[in-house]
Amino acid sequence: MIHDAIGIGFGPSNIAVAIAMEEGGYDGKAIFIEKSDSARWQDEMLLDGSDIQNNPIRDLITPVNPRSRYGFINYLFVTGQLLKYLNVGMHYPLRKLYAKYIEWVGSQFENVRYGEAVCDIRLRDVDGELLWEVRTSRHATFLGRNLVFATGRNLNIPPSLAGSGRIRHLTSYHSATKDLPEGASVAVLGSSQSAVELLLDLHGKGCNEIHAVHRSFSFRLKDTSQFSDEVYFPEFIDYYHALGSEKRAQLDRQVRQTNYSAADGDVIASLYAKCYEDELDGKRRVRIHRNTEIVGHEDHDGSLTLHLQDIYTRQTSSVTVDLLLLATGFLDVGRDGKAGLPELLQDFSEIVEWDGSYLNVLRDYRVKYVEERYPPLYMNGLCESSHGLGDAGSFSLLSYRARDIVTSLKLNQSATINA
Ligand SMILES: Cc1cc2nc3c(=O)[nH]c(=O)nc-3n(C[C@H](O)[C@H](O)[C@H](O)COP(=O)(O)OP(=O)(O)OC[C@H]3O[C@@H](n4cnc5c(N)ncnc54)[C@H](O)[C@@H]3O)c2cc1C
Repeated sequence: MIHDAIGIGFGPSNIAVAIAMEEGGYDGKAIFIEKSDSARWQDEMLLDGSDIQNNPIRDLITPVNPRSRYGFINYLFVTGQLLKYLNVGMHYPLRKLYAKYIEWVGSQFENVRYGEAVCDIRLRDVDGELLWEVRTSRHATFLGRNLVFATGRNLNIPPSLAGSGRIRHLTSYHSATKDLPEGASVAVLGSSQSAVELLLDLHGKGCNEIHAVHRSFSFRLKDTSQFSDEVYFPEFIDYYHALGSEKRAQLDRQVRQTNYSAADGDVIASLYAKCYEDELDGKRRVRIHRNTEIVGHEDHDGSLTLHLQDIYTRQTSSVTVDLLLLATGFLDVGRDGKAGLPELLQDFSEIVEWDGSYLNVLRDYRVKYVEERYPPLYMNGLCESSHGLGDAGSFSLLSYRARDIVTSLKLNQSATINA
């Protein structure tokens, strides 16, 4: 059987595509393949007390169809949680609740193969038609005319810190910390929102020593100016996409702090207050290593020694911990040439078009090829370098992007029928 569209991954980006297909009257045959056994959202980081960073109404569909049954408010209503939610009066909902909402929406689609990772993608000629061939961990093979690639971004793990079992990325936080010994010692690298959230959570877990290591002077406040946040408006994508890669990079430097290397005021204030209270109690559990980088590490006798250096004074020091957590974020696909492409797409680096080291992605999220003859490949949630800050690590534009992708898929579908 040939599918008209194969979705790789069924996280928020492709769930939004499934909704847009249903509500936009897409009549092609689509299938989604997801490696987890249900539609989960960042389940390793559902920390007690942590809230989401987007207005909950900017969910999987509401901005493009406020009447949709897949909106967050309808989820609260049909699951009997609406009044309780309104009554609790939280500015933004808990991440735990939003993860349940995502799972609830995901569970309503039947054309999803869960518990199956895509492990290989190739091109295959079938009776003169060039198709995508997708192979999975369960040895299944799917053929498709369009690929909607939404696996989330590659983890940013500095090469010098790769390979040790005592060094873990935040995306495996729960697994990494569930067996930590009483009074453990943990270091967190980075100064993002996630870094501060991890420090707070480790403090709550009763860790003895918590080392915060970052190259910046301090934890900086996110730029939450309403004017700056207009980078998460669909009009911004049109403006940004029309610029060349050099100008886009200039603009990125200006707006970066709306989402990256910065944290919300509430978590910063809470961490500062905890450090202050510890000091009053004669304890010093959180140690801040500002302007500092990790210049080496040794894994020995069941612990990890980190060698640190102040980036300005060059003064060195070392700390020994049970675990180092990397709050170093994610890599932006399509910015660093072939090396930045997801593993599954590495073989196609010669057939896609590059603007220097930037992947050329069209406004409708299709990758541009050096020749027209290849089947469409959509990058969903991986287009920060071509479409701007809202098109990767954020919910803000997800519903618009899904609508644009499905509109484009529908055009391809009519072209196939007419041919
Ligand atoms: C800790 C944390 C908190 C965040 N909080 C917010 C927030 O509050 N607000 C906000 O706007 N954004 C937030 N983000 C960014 C957020 O994760 C994205 O907005 C959203 O998850 C992107 O959805 P996605 O579907 O593109 O990617 P993902 O959520 O990463 O989903 C990708 C899916 O693809 C699957 N997959 C990967 N590889 C394969 C494969 N080979 N085969 C099959 N399936 C595969 C994965 O299992 C996953 O389900 C947060 C990110 C993190 C890390």
